[in-house]
Amino acid sequence: MKDVIALDIGGTSVKCGLYDESGVLKKKWRVSTNTNGGGKSIFKDIHASFQKEGIDVSALSGIGVGVPGPVKDGTVHGAVNLGWETVNVPEALKTELKSGVSVYVGNDANVAALGEFSKRGEKVDNMLLITLGTGVGGGIVLNGDIVEGAHGGAGEIGHMSMDPEGPLCSCGGHGCLETYSSATAVKRMANEGIKVNPDSSLANLSYIGGRDVFEHAHQGDALSEGIIEEVAEQLGRAIANVNTTLDLPLILIGGGLAQAGEYLLSKVRGSYQAACFGTSCQAEIKPASLGNDAGMVGAFELVMRRG
Ligand SMILES: [Zn+2]
Repeated sequence: MKDVIALDIGGTSVKCGLYDESGVLKKKWRVSTNTNGGGKSIFKDIHASFQKEGIDVSALSGIGVGVPGPVKDGTVHGAVNLGWETVNVPEALKTELKSGVSVYVGNDANVAALGEFSKRGEKVDNMLLITLGTGVGGGIVLNGDIVEGAHGGAGEIGHMSMDPEGPLCSCGGHGCLETYSSATAVKRMANEGIKVNPDSSLANLSYIGGRDVFEHAHQGDALSEGIIEEVAEQLGRAIANVNTTLDLPLILIGGGLAQAGEYLLSKVRGSYQAACFGTSCQAEIKPASLGNDAGMVGAFELVMRRG
């Protein structure tokens, strides 16, 4: 049996996994992401880690890669967090490795969706994964494969316009979903909220993290409860808008904020039901299960499904 390498390239580190073809993870390690000089040394650093870990590239059946940017047919068109402009990932990696090994690449959120999809017990062919972290990421799986879109940008649910007069988003737009339903948004709403609600228990904290807002909401703090309501209201409505179009049977919610579990998900389901249309109201909204490993598992699946 040959082995497969899975790489999840992020702005801080590259998660690397060595799998056998049956999906057993034999070892995993991390490489720091060096974004200096346009991220030119990233593949060199990955190669060096292969040598350190004793990876025999000629014995691999393929390498799967997730990258944080729009990917179309193996080429990433700008990955700001890596310092990359347009990079043909298979070509660049094979040149660095001096190998003809097969390389398959996808957008990291889409690849994570494929990872979660592959590990589900449900018999579904179509699914949406939404990750609630610093931003809001999304990936759509249709007929068992990632949807890239015409230009590699499919699944960017975080930048769906919820209110054109809403808060400024990192993308330059206003009122994108991620300005309401990300960890960044929760912190912003909390810091703005304590100015007008100085009696909130959040006002006693020197720093407010996303987890604090959930904890204080649990304890009955009205400001915190209102913030979680807003997160869930916007997220449920965004999912309903997507699903009125696609009628997917399953929506998974992952990322740091999703650790709030049923407390958040039950509110998201309520908001979804208030806004959904027709048969798509039957969709199930459930927690994702792979956590930080979703991207690596998905990169492994890219090799198995496309190889
Ligand atoms: Zn945006």
